[in-house]
Amino acid sequence: MKIDLSGKTALVTGSTAGIGHAIAKGLAGSGASVVINGRGRDKVDAAVRKLEATGAKVRGIAADVSTASGCKALVAALPEVDILINNAGIFEPKDFFDIPDEDWTRFFEVNVMSGVRLSRAYMKGMLKRNWGRIVFISSESGLNIPAEMIHYGMSKTAQLSVARGLAQLTRGTAVTVNSVLPGPTMSEGVETFVKDLAKQNWQSVDEAAANFVKQHRPSSLIQRFASVDEIANMVVYVASKEASATNGAALRAEGGIVNTIA
Ligand code: NAD
Repeated sequence: MKIDLSGKTALVTGSTAGIGHAIAKGLAGSGASVVINGRGRDKVDAAVRKLEATGAKVRGIAADVSTASGCKALVAALPEVDILINNAGIFEPKDFFDIPDEDWTRFFEVNVMSGVRLSRAYMKGMLKRNWGRIVFISSESGLNIPAEMIHYGMSKTAQLSVARGLAQLTRGTAVTVNSVLPGPTMSEGVETFVKDLAKQNWQSVDEAAANFVKQHRPSSLIQRFASVDEIANMVVYVASKEASATNGAALRAEGGIVNTIA
């Protein structure tokens, strides 16, 4: 199978770093014209330059997708896309009894409403042109709710619900809406978190990463963090023309942590 996305425009939210950047690189490597997004102009420009150096067709739009005005500005700058990857997301371990209302709202705005607003803006065009892909980057934490960040788990389950609901609207068309569920993945954001753990416990970063998986994700079959490219590979496939029979699905790339068959 050769994935060819030439002629398609893809927007990846939160793609200046981490999983989003790997997805942008993967889509561009398959021929798509890719739009990088992040909040700050400088980081967006740096990420664009990094991909341009690989020969990618790429541009950048700085916009905060956690706000209605940020999404509006993004859509004004980019009125149509063929592939929308709702990747931007935040996470933070916090005891349930210490999570204030504002954090619940913030997690919902960044992790859920960004994808809701952008899907509302782009999906009609996809249905009209009878081709499109929307992918929500959820998490295995949407199925196995982590006791140390219930607000994050809530937002990741909500994404699964929105994605499945939107897929119902594609009946009989060549548009698909799916979610991808990564497990622990060594993105820049997670690397910072693991480095902090390592410092607290007087461990090397590798030891801290291995311990994290053993302690917090004992059911993992791969017993390690995934790389950002391993997640991006799944996303590029589901965004491809070849994935035309996969719709309304929650696709796992979580190393087997979730111990169920379906
Ligand atoms: P990261 O922190 O490494 O990168 C996140 C990116 O999103 C950055 O480029 C950041 O600038 C951008 N971003 C954050 N808020 C934004 C906003 N309001 N508007 C625009 N851009 C914004 O994160 P990551 O680990 O690569 O995670 C990416 C996605 O994958 C998230 O939705 C996360 O929940 C999900 N995920 C990550 C893991 C993991 O272990 N890394 C596991 C499961 C799911």
